[in-house]
Amino acid sequence: MTTLADYPKIAAGKVRDLYAVGDDHLLLVTSDRISAYDFILDPPVPDKGRVLTAMSVFWFEQLSDLIPNHLVAYDDPRIPEEVRGRALLVRRLEMLPVEAVARGYLAGSGYADYRRTGALCGVQLPEGLEESSKLPTPIFTPATKAAIGEHDENVSFDDVVAKIGAKRAEEVREATLAVYRLGAELAAERGILLADTKLEFGVDERGELVLADEVLTPDSSRYWPAEGYEPGRGQPSFDKQYVRDWLTGPESGWRRESGEKPPKLPGKVVEATRGRYVEAYGRMTGLSLGDWGEG
Ligand code: ATP
Ligand code: MG
Repeated sequence: MTTLADYPKIAAGKVRDLYAVGDDHLLLVTSDRISAYDFILDPPVPDKGRVLTAMSVFWFEQLSDLIPNHLVAYDDPRIPEEVRGRALLVRRLEMLPVEAVARGYLAGSGYADYRRTGALCGVQLPEGLEESSKLPTPIFTPATKAAIGEHDENVSFDDVVAKIGAKRAEEVREATLAVYRLGAELAAERGILLADTKLEFGVDERGELVLADEVLTPDSSRYWPAEGYEPGRGQPSFDKQYVRDWLTGPESGWRRESGEKPPKLPGKVVEATRGRYVEAYGRMTGLSLGDWGEG
């Protein structure tokens, strides 16, 4: 039987671990680690890795007519039992050094940049937009990938052209906006607003652009309940809001400004957060996590 120890570990990100499977494939293992306010929280949230994995697979399938993706298998003897359900066998790609972000609403660093400059990634925006405002049309707002512990930095389309060439940059922009549009459309049918999303692309051995990493998960996207949406303030996020509220509330005894590591999460907070992720999966896909993978 295959075990994880059979594969050389080639990288570990904040959330995912990567193992080489031969020369051409990777095992992309999603952990249950959860981050908030740039800290990895303790303890992890059970089932979070399965939710993110199942959701990526759902979206790769929904988007497959639009763009090729890196997914090879999610239930395959090459995937060790111990990570079944939260690991994907994928094609190993040459990743492009661009965080491909599309935004339909103004939030996070997008809102911060707009407030400072009236523009975002070199795109001039109309005056009078507020936090969480819907943009006149979805826009491509690329960023450069930062090292662990640093924030990604928004860049202009011309910066992307300088990095990967005009033809590839245009291809990435079109693909990113197309994924956003389809994602937003399907989410809207389920009473959810897709505010923005971050994609990563790679290039395969034939030079074809391929959608990689995770796709339209709650970790890579801002999903807001359509009900109660109101510009002019931040919107509650589906999944992490509960844990964020607990951390900044009176019970935790933690002050964000202190810069100190947040306290250990109590069992009830972990359990409630787990419930939010499982619910987000069910609501977005119409599927039950109980039917997914081996568990
Ligand atoms: P974060 O998501 O927390 O900003 P990160 O993206 O560096 O950090 P993870 O998401 O934990 O880290 O790890 C996933 C890593 O795998 C990323 O570096 C991503 O670019 C890479 N990756 C994803 N799919 C492929 C692929 N098909 N081929 C090669 N590398 C890939
Ligand atoms: Mg990532």
